[in-house]
Amino acid sequence: MAKAAAAKPIAGTGRSGVSPSSAPAKTKRRSNPRESKAGGAKAGRPAERRLRGIAITEGVAIGPVFGAVEPEIEPARRRIQAADIEAERSRLDAAIAQSKKQLIKLRARLDMLPEESQAEIAPLIDAYLHMLGPSRLTRTMRQRIEEGLVAAETAVRDTGDAMAAAIMAMAETGSDGSEQRASARRHADEVREISRRLIRNLTRQPFRNFAALPQGAVLICEYLRPADVALLDPSRLAGVAADEGGADGHTAIMLRALGVPAVLGVADLTAAAPPGTLAIIDGRKGEVILDPSTATLAEARRAVTGFARQRQHWARLRRLPAITTDGQEVELQANLELPAELPLIAQAGAAGIGLLRSEFLFMNRERLPDEDQQAEIYRGIIEAMAGDPVTIRVLDWSGEKEIDALVAEGLVPDLPPENPALSVRGLRLLLRRPELFETQLAAILRAANAGPVRILLPMVTTLGEIRSAREVFERVVRRLRRRGERLPEPLPPFGIMIETPAAALSADALALEADFFAIGSNDLTMYTLAVDRAEAEVAPLYDPLHPAVLRLMQFATEAALLMRKPVSVCGELAGNPKFTPLLLGLGLRSFSMNASAVPRVKQAVRHVGADACARFARRVMEQNHSSMIDELLSEFAAANE
Ligand code: PEP
Ligand code: MG
Repeated sequence: MAKAAAAKPIAGTGRSGVSPSSAPAKTKRRSNPRESKAGGAKAGRPAERRLRGIAITEGVAIGPVFGAVEPEIEPARRRIQAADIEAERSRLDAAIAQSKKQLIKLRARLDMLPEESQAEIAPLIDAYLHMLGPSRLTRTMRQRIEEGLVAAETAVRDTGDAMAAAIMAMAETGSDGSEQRASARRHADEVREISRRLIRNLTRQPFRNFAALPQGAVLICEYLRPADVALLDPSRLAGVAADEGGADGHTAIMLRALGVPAVLGVADLTAAAPPGTLAIIDGRKGEVILDPSTATLAEARRAVTGFARQRQHWARLRRLPAITTDGQEVELQANLELPAELPLIAQAGAAGIGLLRSEFLFMNRERLPDEDQQAEIYRGIIEAMAGDPVTIRVLDWSGEKEIDALVAEGLVPDLPPENPALSVRGLRLLLRRPELFETQLAAILRAANAGPVRILLPMVTTLGEIRSAREVFERVVRRLRRRGERLPEPLPPFGIMIETPAAALSADALALEADFFAIGSNDLTMYTLAVDRAEAEVAPLYDPLHPAVLRLMQFATEAALLMRKPVSVCGELAGNPKFTPLLLGLGLRSFSMNASAVPRVKQAVRHVGADACARFARRVMEQNHSSMIDELLSEFAAANE
């Protein structure tokens, strides 16, 4: 059917895919190795197909596929001075290196495809890689910068257009047959595609536009960045699925927070689901069903109604206290990624915000927010919480959380470092860019008059970092006092994330300097197990129940309790009611999670006794295998339902 011909040729690396224009002429919809057919096609009606991925959000969504197309990029022509030649050449080299990396990653993913498709696509990627090597194309681009005195993106566009036109002209004037002309057309397309990829990497243009997303559609794309999720309107969107992504990356966290049914890491999805296809996103099972049969559709509709009913049940828990059967009070707070979640937090009955990920303030804008702009946003959130505490985590920049304004203002390099998770992220960046840190601290301090606030530092590994951060904080306090600003008394507590093995294992020392701990189980799992939390390919290895992760959490919790410092968990672990008895048993009494999880966790808290949990935790901590731990957790949860 016609739809199949429109399918994209390949699931991409995420940042930019191989565009349809570069598809080999005979590309057709490929079958997915993880795809199964059910319900046999009736005449004229496509067969139902099921594709498996990673379950992200609990709901089920039904709707037509909306493919988020990457916008064409037309950077303005820019001339440069002779003194800028070197800088522009370096920018071009960096974009070439990044493009090569993307393509190599793409090539590595090919073995997930059927052999026939691999045979079609591999030579195409090789051709791209060849062109990005020491080819005539890249030589001419460099020459154009030097001799034409133009910026790198202008040189790329000029060279790509000229070369594609020359290839086509040669084919038209030559006496070759139509097959040669088709081959020349493909070659010209390849040159244009390489130019587009380079320009996208040079200009860091937003990849997609969600403005045209129709009401009730299902968004399907290769890769969704956290910054993209920040642009989505959850009230318009039925569900989301993407080829890429892992269970605990920031994209997943934000989708969960918005309560949008979502499945990530569905290999080859975009190729199989052209726009308009009817799709079911099953966030419980981690499944995408395309062209569902009548019976499957009816079942999905029942699931949608069932979820709505369950939500009503959770809503009734809102006013009940989070207290164990033996009277231990537990603090259940919400994580906030976007101001759009504020109404959800109120609905969920969360007792404040335990983790405000302030990154959203910096995303999707050309310039960084200044002190006044930030103060106003923090004040709005603090006032909305009406006296409940708000823990504001200062900017946690990392490679994954792309923030163009930081690049534009020269605060982070144009290209992410080779290994962003182990490079300058979180507090490391803030200490290197004190102006950025001071502005944010000043804004938080000014807003802190509106209600109780705590300040949280991300990605801490040493005592020295906390001391340096405190010095900056004290400098800002002195400056604001000199300016005559009214500051809260006492000043907001100054706490740290425990999200690296280094921080967890030196928690007893760090507790001397930090006012409180927030255990970030997401990064703690990633760094302990050396598994990228956002990478679909290693997703099965990402296991927060690994005894190593649990022991680190136990050590940090005990250090905090010994030093009488408040400690909470704010990673995704905190929002899973199955883990609640274990966390209570380790001595934890404060959890922060995506708002929609609060009622479920509250129910789990209200069904257990703290003493029983402590005995249970001792048993769990004796285990050597996460599979055994998982089994014990399931048993305990079933016995206490
Ligand atoms: C964590 O790492 O567990 C955490 C809460 O921080 P983030 O998910 O924002 O990295
Ligand atoms: Mg973290």
